[in-house]
Amino acid sequence: AGAMTPVAKIIREEMRERGPMDLGRYMALCLGHPEYGYYMTRDPFGVKGDFTTAPEISQIFGEMIGVWLADTWEKMGAPANFILLECGPGRGTLMADALRATKNVAGFHAALALHLLEMSPVLRQAQEEALKAHNPVWHAGLESVPEDMPLLVIGNEFLDALPVHQLVRQKDGWAERTVEPAQGGGFALGAREASQEMIALVPPSLLPWQDRDVVEVSPILIRFLKSLCFRLKKQKGSALFIDYGYMSSAAGETLQAVHKHRPVSILDAPGQADITAHVNFETIGTISMAEGVTVHGPVPQGAFLERLGAGIRAAALCNNATESQEKDIAESMNRLCAKNRMGTLFKALAICDDPALDLSGFQAVEGP
Ligand code: SAH
Repeated sequence: AGAMTPVAKIIREEMRERGPMDLGRYMALCLGHPEYGYYMTRDPFGVKGDFTTAPEISQIFGEMIGVWLADTWEKMGAPANFILLECGPGRGTLMADALRATKNVAGFHAALALHLLEMSPVLRQAQEEALKAHNPVWHAGLESVPEDMPLLVIGNEFLDALPVHQLVRQKDGWAERTVEPAQGGGFALGAREASQEMIALVPPSLLPWQDRDVVEVSPILIRFLKSLCFRLKKQKGSALFIDYGYMSSAAGETLQAVHKHRPVSILDAPGQADITAHVNFETIGTISMAEGVTVHGPVPQGAFLERLGAGIRAAALCNNATESQEKDIAESMNRLCAKNRMGTLFKALAICDDPALDLSGFQAVEGP
């Protein structure tokens, strides 16, 4: 092991005082430590960074989100004022593409107030540059988002960055995975008895348990989702989330770290690799319904984008493209939409206060 990263030092320090650390706290410090956390110190996207997200692959992704937003706004009765909130906007690329694509939708831009939920000062700077024409307002959490207007919310690869805990099934109950100092430096995984609070979050649909099953639960995601559902009911509105994830609860660990487009151990170089967990869309659906909002999907990202018109948009772009640009458009469409690529690994899910709204992208489109 090389020299300790600043986050590693901070984690060591905290462990000296409080003992082994749960994975939720570990992940939160690695990604979000105010000074040294992964997202706080860098722009991680693209070929030179650590990973590439859908809006960075093609403008068509953000444009289709724009179509979905404008269409949903119209279905809500085109409110004269509403909050357009993006969670985890990254470089601001998705929102810039969505806003450009909707500039001719009558009344849409005049009605929207742009709000961004973002913890990283570096990325806030990038978002400011991409979106300054729309005067965005930033938030560290949902609490400060205004409560007096309908909401349209979008989050791409936001939920997968929220910290998870791992519970491990043992003969006589659940243990919770921890991180502890390793002999000779670095960190190792450990375990301790799980709290009742954590055990209560394990999806009952997973019964019967097998010995050594690992289950991931995210109290932070659940808290965020419940307050969002509350806001949607109170203010009216819809939220769309797209993420790497699974449709129905399953035991298994998905916590992973990526550095320079390669998988690395979550324990190596804390604060210098991205850490994510796959999103459990079944849990999101179950909790949202219990909170009294309507759930659409999850559906595979490829089907979602096609239904919104991604194929038609790609063909239109090809009309004015050189041969090599045409190839690029075809390859990025394939990457976003094809089976066994992002087209099926990623899913789209929407929640809405109004059960009567027929949100686009979630039902099979009838042929001509
Ligand atoms: N949506 C963008 C970026 C995805 S990466 C894209 O598709 O390219 C995750 C984003 O969520 C980053 O902008 C990161 O800084 C932000 N983020 C992660 N955890 C967060 C948290 N707890 N609160 C606010 N923002 C967070």
